[in-house]
Amino acid sequence: DKIEEKLYQNRYRVDEGCPHVRIDASKVPSEQLKAMVDICPAGCYVEGENGKVEVVPDGCMECGTCRIVCQETGELEWAYPRGGYGILFKFG
Ligand code: SF4
Repeated sequence: DKIEEKLYQNRYRVDEGCPHVRIDASKVPSEQLKAMVDICPAGCYVEGENGKVEVVPDGCMECGTCRIVCQETGELEWAYPRGGYGILFKFG
């Protein structure tokens, strides 16, 4: 199987009103945060208005890349989704 087909088998459960990745919007986005628009494998980061970066973590694969990349900038609040939410990997 192709990886796309495998990924398609994963299901994503959105925890409404409780996003597990948040950006501190009061700060001017760092280069690291802006880079996430291209880096995030799930396309969760988008460039918004006034050069701000927005995150919509629906579909987030919990790869942790944004957490590591933005670790020192302090712009991200990142936590694993509550049990039963987020990506549900299907194995086999
Ligand atoms: Fe994207 Fe990975 Fe960050 Fe989720 S953890 S928002 S998939 S970079």
